[in-house]
Amino acid sequence: MGRRKKIVQECETLMDKPENIRNIAIAAHVDHGKTTLTDNLLAGAGMISDDTAGEQLAMDTEEDEQERGITIDAANVSMTHEYEDTNHLINLIDTPGHVDFGGDVTRAMRAVDGALVVVDAVEGAMPQTETVLRQALREGVKPTLFINKVDRLISELQEGPEEMQERLLAVIRDVNELIRGMTEEMDDIDEDWTVGVEEGTVGFGSALYKWGVSMPSMQRTGMDFGEIMELERADKRQELHDRTPLSDVVLDMVCEHFPNPIDAQPRRIPRIWRGDADSDVAETMQLVDEEGEVVLMVTDIGIDPHAGEIAAGRVFSGTLEKGQELYVSGTAGKNRVQSVGIYMGGERQEVDRVPAGNIAAVTGLKDAIAGSTVSSVEMTPFESIEHISEPVITKS
Ligand code: GDP
Repeated sequence: MGRRKKIVQECETLMDKPENIRNIAIAAHVDHGKTTLTDNLLAGAGMISDDTAGEQLAMDTEEDEQERGITIDAANVSMTHEYEDTNHLINLIDTPGHVDFGGDVTRAMRAVDGALVVVDAVEGAMPQTETVLRQALREGVKPTLFINKVDRLISELQEGPEEMQERLLAVIRDVNELIRGMTEEMDDIDEDWTVGVEEGTVGFGSALYKWGVSMPSMQRTGMDFGEIMELERADKRQELHDRTPLSDVVLDMVCEHFPNPIDAQPRRIPRIWRGDADSDVAETMQLVDEEGEVVLMVTDIGIDPHAGEIAAGRVFSGTLEKGQELYVSGTAGKNRVQSVGIYMGGERQEVDRVPAGNIAAVTGLKDAIAGSTVSSVEMTPFESIEHISEPVITKS
């Protein structure tokens, strides 16, 4: 069996185990390394070749984006990762990094339960770091932090261990100050959502040179920061990658620290959906019940040259299947599902069914737009997505 076919089969098996699913977004200020990091994850999960990760920029799918060098359209990928002897399905939604696309970022956040916030170690937290964090927290999405471009501190800025530690701690402090300020008023979050090195919710590394570390990874590999600095300085980056690959560190963090849909949906549904809390559909959404009414929240409409419009989004309840007749919020009548699929390394792969807790790609929903609620019963649509506006900053 081909590798790709095997991964599809793995994904199909895991789709029915919501406890092993993580729906995540990577969010960052422009140029902080989101695309490069995403490619590392795809390569680590065997979705693209390791050699081309970082060059391939798999998530930059639009020609227009390539030309302009920025990520515009939210793209989706699914991958598998083994953590503590259990295989996990990780559905990753790419969020646009550019401020003009704030609405898209929030829509992507609605579909996920965890957000990996990437911050450039040299630049530190920037205005869009704050914006993406706010968008995540407002949607009830839990953050973790990856501090990127640490290679630059070591090799370019020639910082010593103390200076570097100070700088990294300052980034963590700044991010935590933002998180603390934003979560203070949120009484539906009863855990501490600030991030910490000791807790394992902070990773460091270099997406460009494909190495990364976290407290748990250092304990596992036995490598300390001193050794990492030595190898980076000596330009032994391949060895660093081989011994402490970035994708393992980040994907382990994702599996360990982000909630699965069963944990996330009961908390998130009251925050993002204002329908009758005592209704059947409220209950099946909170339970991630694959036997319940179908509820899909569309986050993005893409165009496939062969299949036409593809609606992508989060299945909060029920199971999506070909042939279903579904309501589309804000429109009269129903649309018929022509196909259902998942995303594999950015490509759509048709499957027979997509149950609750997953990200689906659907054709046939001709009336759906980004933000539509698509369902098998007439229901209160999801809250309209609030666009968090900020001054437009053009990329220099
Ligand atoms: P995005 O806008 O957040 O998606 O950022 P990209 O992934 O496109 O990266 C922006 C630039 O930073 C590119 O030139 C990357 O090669 C570079 N870059 C990304 N990660 C690193 C890193 O870890 N170290 C260094 N030195 N450069 C990086």
